[in-house]
Amino acid sequence: MTETLLVKNARISDEGALQDLFIKDGLFEKIGPQLEMDEQADRVIDCRGKVVLPGLIESHIHPDKAFLEDRKPNVSGTLDEAIRNTGELKKAYTYDDVYNRAEKVLNWAISKGTTIMRAHPDVDHIEELLGVEVLLELKEKYRDKIDLQIVVFPQEGILKSEGTLDRLEEGLKMGADVVGGCPYNEKSIEDSYRHLEYVFDLAEKYDVPVDMHVDFADHTDDPRYMLTERICKMTIERGWQGRVALGHVTTLGSMETEEAGQLFDKIAETGITIMPLPATDVYLNGRDDTHNVRRGMAPVKRLLEHGVNVVFASNNIRNAFTPFGNANLLLVGYLLAETQYMGSADEQRKVLDMITVNAAKCLGIEETYGLEEGKQADLVVLDSEKLSEVIQDQPIANVVVKRGQVIVEQQILPQ
Ligand SMILES: [Zn+2]
Repeated sequence: MTETLLVKNARISDEGALQDLFIKDGLFEKIGPQLEMDEQADRVIDCRGKVVLPGLIESHIHPDKAFLEDRKPNVSGTLDEAIRNTGELKKAYTYDDVYNRAEKVLNWAISKGTTIMRAHPDVDHIEELLGVEVLLELKEKYRDKIDLQIVVFPQEGILKSEGTLDRLEEGLKMGADVVGGCPYNEKSIEDSYRHLEYVFDLAEKYDVPVDMHVDFADHTDDPRYMLTERICKMTIERGWQGRVALGHVTTLGSMETEEAGQLFDKIAETGITIMPLPATDVYLNGRDDTHNVRRGMAPVKRLLEHGVNVVFASNNIRNAFTPFGNANLLLVGYLLAETQYMGSADEQRKVLDMITVNAAKCLGIEETYGLEEGKQADLVVLDSEKLSEVIQDQPIANVVVKRGQVIVEQQILPQ
């Protein structure tokens, strides 16, 4: 155990001087230029002007269903087939199978600078609570390397999947941190509405945040994929402002401009986080288009302009929903920046905010997160010289620090 660590000459912003960060007992004790505290540190890491960010936050991922692509590929490339194929494969899951695949995701993520993660294991009549059990064990095993929040996620619906409501509650009793939802995967709009009521009822009963998969379409024709406005209303009625996150929400990109603008204002007002999942959204949407193929994503720049908290995440690693991925948030950020026209230096830095400060807000951990004195000493040293170039550089994570301990060292910094 290192009690004190000095990380010096760090580029933590593109303006101003390089900073030194003195870490003691897992917290940033002092941050400033040229602290000259080498003598007081058990260990010194000289970044020599490399970029240092707070530990990256993977705010939405499914470790329990990673690495399934080779078992049953998604031939049509649609969301329907992805759910169907994965439902088939879940029947054959064993504890060890899920554990090994999920652990691989955690290790890959940590090696790329992720120190905090929110995971969505499926909870339903097929997988039951297996994914939750595995992730609770991994949460404990990896507690010194990554903070893990667990969401109970009803991928197969709640009304459509017998016993799921009870299992969601059981998962929360076992120690899950967040209640999930998937209201589009019900047989009728009335059932989707009931699904939402169940989710908010559980959130209230267990005093936990809500994080749902919603409005995952590339058109506005089916009301089961047009629930965001209703969720805004429910968020206010239930007093859950700032505690609701919505993943995908790609339908927002298909709405008429004026109507969408009014909805974006409501989303901002309720403090709901919108979470594009580019690697999945771009891959599964637009499948019926023969030309002028849609990108099928939530409109990130417009949402930011309206003051919405926007984050992005990996979602899936190599399965029927997304046959790509290596748990590298910077790679997903590249895809987001390209497809959302975020090319200026300022916009590219905003992409980094979405996997750091914006994600911290989404996960409700702002009080302990960030490169500030008194906060938890999680950081990543990236092999880049400017924050605005990180997305293009796709740098290696030279060093990853979790609560003051060096947990990854992948390359000796240049002398
Ligand atoms: Zn997801």
